Amino acid sequence: MIKIKMPNDFVLAITYSCNSRCRMCNIWKKEAQPLLDLNEYKKLPEKIKDVNLTGGEPFLSPNLLEIIKILVSKNPRARIIISSNGFATELIRQKMIEILKIKPDIGIGISLDAIGEAHNQIRGIPGGYDKVLATIAMLKDLGIKNLRLAFTAGDYNINELKRVYKLSEDLGVQFTLAATHNAENYFNSVDNKITKINDFESEFSILIKNELSKLNLKNWLRAYFAYALLQFIKTGKRLLPNYSGQDSIFIDPLGDVYPSDVSGHVMGNLKEFESFEKLYYSKKSQEAIELESKNQNWMICTARSAIKKHPFNVFFWIIKSKFFGIRL
Ligand code: SF4
Repeated sequence: MIKIKMPNDFVLAITYSCNSRCRMCNIWKKEAQPLLDLNEYKKLPEKIKDVNLTGGEPFLSPNLLEIIKILVSKNPRARIIISSNGFATELIRQKMIEILKIKPDIGIGISLDAIGEAHNQIRGIPGGYDKVLATIAMLKDLGIKNLRLAFTAGDYNINELKRVYKLSEDLGVQFTLAATHNAENYFNSVDNKITKINDFESEFSILIKNELSKLNLKNWLRAYFAYALLQFIKTGKRLLPNYSGQDSIFIDPLGDVYPSDVSGHVMGNLKEFESFEKLYYSKKSQEAIELESKNQNWMICTARSAIKKHPFNVFFWIIKSKFFGIRL
C-alpha cells in the first residue's frame, strides 16, 4: 500500500454534454446521462488547492454555479479553473456574471487548436474560431484576469502551435499546452497516436526558447513542462514520478473516481461512500493508486505536484537550458 495523505488537486468532469464535435474526442457521442446529485459534491474534502472544472462543456451543466458554491464554501482559497470550448458565448457570459459574485478570481481556459478555419475543422463547428475570439473578448470585458488559451497538440495541428502561441501573446492571455492522448474512461476508441516527432520538436522548441528567455519563474516552469511533455511524447516516459491518485484525482460526471482522466483504474464511486475520505482509504482505491503509479502520463494536473516535489531536477534543467542551450 502506498499511501498516504489526501490529494489536493481535483479535476471534476461535471457533465458529458458537449456542443463541440471534436475529431480527437468522442465524449460528444455519449448518450445523455443523469448528472451526479449536487449533494455528492458536498462529500469532497477540505484543503483542496486546485480544481479544474471540465466536461464535456461545463457551461452546459445546470449545476455549474452550485458546484462552485459548494467548492468555495469548503475551500475558499482553492484555485478554480473552468475549461471550456468557448462556443456558447452568451451562455458563458450569463453564467460568468453569477460565478464572479462567488469566486472573483476564477480562471477560464478556452480551447484553441488552430487559427481560423483549421480550428473549425478540428472541432467540427462552423464559425467556431470566431466564437472563441468573441468569448475571449467578452471574458476580458467582464474583467477576468486569469484567462488562458488551451492548445491540445496532435499530428493534425502541430504546425499551428506557434501561431496559437503567438495569438495568446497578442491577446495578452496565458497559453497552456497538452497533447492528445487515449484514455479508456474518457476518449475511448479514438486513436490519438502521435507520429510527427520532428514537427513536434521544431514547434515545441520555439515555445520553450521563448518561455526561457523571459524573466519570470512561471514562464520557466512552463518551458520545463513543455520540454517534459515532448520527452514523454518521444519516449512514453515521464521525467518525474507519477503521483496520480496520491496528489491529484479525476471524478467523472457519474461519480466514478480515478487517479487521473487517462487512468482506467476506478477507485470507487462517490455515491457509494459517505465521504470522499472513506472512498479514498478503501482497499479498492489504494490498489488503483498503486497500479496507476506504474503508468505513464504527462498532463498539467499530474505534473504540477511532481514539479513541486522535485525542484532540484526542474531548476537544474532550467539553468542548464538557459545558459548552455536546449537539447531536445
Ligand atoms: S474535447 Fe472537449 S470540447 Fe471537444 S468533444 Fe471532447 S469534451 Fe467536447
